[in-house]
Amino acid sequence: MFDTHVHTSISDDCKMPIEDAIKRAKGLGIGMVVTDHMDINYPKDNLFVFDVDDFFNRYEKYRSDKVLLGIEMGLRPDAIDENRNLEKNYDFDYVLGSIHVVNSVDIYEERFYLEKSKKEAYVEYFKAMLDGVRENEFIDSLAHIDYIGRYAKYDDTEIYYDDYREVIDEILREVAMREKSLEINTRRLGNRSTLNELFNTYKRFYELGGKTVTIGSDGHTTESIGVNFKEAMELASSCNLRPVYYKRRKCEYI
Ligand SMILES: [Zn+2]
Ligand SMILES: [Zn+2]
Repeated sequence: MFDTHVHTSISDDCKMPIEDAIKRAKGLGIGMVVTDHMDINYPKDNLFVFDVDDFFNRYEKYRSDKVLLGIEMGLRPDAIDENRNLEKNYDFDYVLGSIHVVNSVDIYEERFYLEKSKKEAYVEYFKAMLDGVRENEFIDSLAHIDYIGRYAKYDDTEIYYDDYREVIDEILREVAMREKSLEINTRRLGNRSTLNELFNTYKRFYELGGKTVTIGSDGHTTESIGVNFKEAMELASSCNLRPVYYKRRKCEYI
């Protein structure tokens, strides 16, 4: 088993030293993939970018069969070439593509939701994700499709597949057609009704030709590494999807 989405102190929002993450993963008997944030052109203070040469200089010594070095790239229309150059020119094991910023606003921020209905905000988010998947053909897996459910400022933030079927299907079709993986992000899987809703999305991914999923905690602390993996494995198998990880950009079955 691999936790394919783990942050370390290289990420601006994470204090965990890589040594602590490795120790925790080892204690759990699982492998891990480092995926620090690279959100090029992040709208504020040059946050969420790091020096890739420095990253490899510092982390190469930790690399092994159980500790892989990836990157979580923010997908956005004004960073396509820079992201592509990074994935081409550096020896990452894994490239995870994410949507954190929509039309230049971090969806973590309340102002993204102001004067928008939930439906408007969510459709805007999914459309940005669809563009991101279409424009960045080089990613290995699409991260946390349910990310907006973590931070939206509505009483009920749940993503009901039927409400967004059209645009979600387009995203899933695109990922499947390119033979990429869809991440099962385990952050929200502790909630039974969330799990039931996500089942609809992942089942649909399979129906549209999807075959593989990556499982990642998005851990920023040692306690979150490997959390809810049982639920994620059950979700994958109930949707006939195979959990994989990537090593030297090649898909490996778990
Ligand atoms: Zn992310
Ligand atoms: Zn992350």
